[in-house]
Formats: sequence, C-alpha cells, structure tokens
Amino acid sequence: MRCPFCGAADSKVLDSRPTDDGGVIRRRRECPACAGRFTTYEKVEARPFVVIKKDGRREAWSPEKVLRGLITACEKRPVELSTLESLVAEVERELRSRYEREVPSKEVGELVTERLRSLDQVAYVRFASVYRQFQDVRRFKEELERLLASGRAGAEDGAGREPEGGG
Ligand SMILES: [Zn+2]
Repeated sequence: MRCPFCGAADSKVLDSRPTDDGGVIRRRRECPACAGRFTTYEKVEARPFVVIKKDGRREAWSPEKVLRGLITACEKRPVELSTLESLVAEVERELRSRYEREVPSKEVGELVTERLRSLDQVAYVRFASVYRQFQDVRRFKEELERLLASGRAGAEDGAGREPEGGG
C-alpha cells in the first residue's frame, strides 16, 4: 500500500484486526521511508446486486427495505428484530448464490414469505398480502382460512414446503 505522505510504494503492517462486525479488516501501517503511519481497511468486494421489478425496472437490492416490510408485517407479533435481521441476511446469501447480478423481485418475495411462514403465521399472511405474493384471491383466502382454523396463530406447525403449481 502506497504511503499517503511520501508516496513510497511499500509499507509495513503493524497491526491487523477485524472491525466489530467482522466484515472489515483494519490494518495499521508504517512507511519505512518516512515513518509516517496510516490505516487501511480491507473488505470483500460487495457485488452489485439488482432487483428486477415486475414492469422490468431495476433497483438496487436493499436489505433495509425488506427489513422494513418485515417489521411492519410483524407489528405486535412476538418476533425479535434480530430474528428478522437474520432472516434478511439468509435470504440475501441465498439470492446471491443463486443469481449472479440480477434477481426477479418475485424470487425475493417468495424466499422471504417462505421463511416468514415458519416463523409467524400472522406476519406471514400480512406480508404476503401486502406484497401480493398470493397468485390470486382464492389462494389468499385458503391461507387465511387455514390460519384461522389452526386456532393457534404464530405457533410452529411444521408444515413443509409444498411444491407450487406450474404457474
Ligand atoms: Zn512515507
């Protein structure tokens, strides 16, 4: 790393430590030419990631936006914020491993609702209806009836992932 003081090409690393979130390494360096000390930060390159909306418009992937939607859906539900944050992080990992650069918004919605479903049934129905993940009114009604019939909204029902129809 070039010295910012004298421009010498090399520098010596005095100390390396991860920052609090572990995603960045902070290195304290010293220039052997002028003895100037400076700090560099090293992080894994964040690949740009884009969501393709239904009408074809693109927008930057925003974990904050997904989290806000989840927080709204989980209002007055016994779901901790940290659980929602992990959910979003998991979804992002999965999306990035499946898609190189661009992901259809439908996929984002499906992954989120799928996970929310096993977390909290009420939040799941709220989220899915707001984000129009139900293909039609009938499907929404079925989910709602199933939820009401279970009589214990929010409890784990261990329901497995059912294959979706050919759509
Ligand atoms: Zn220097």
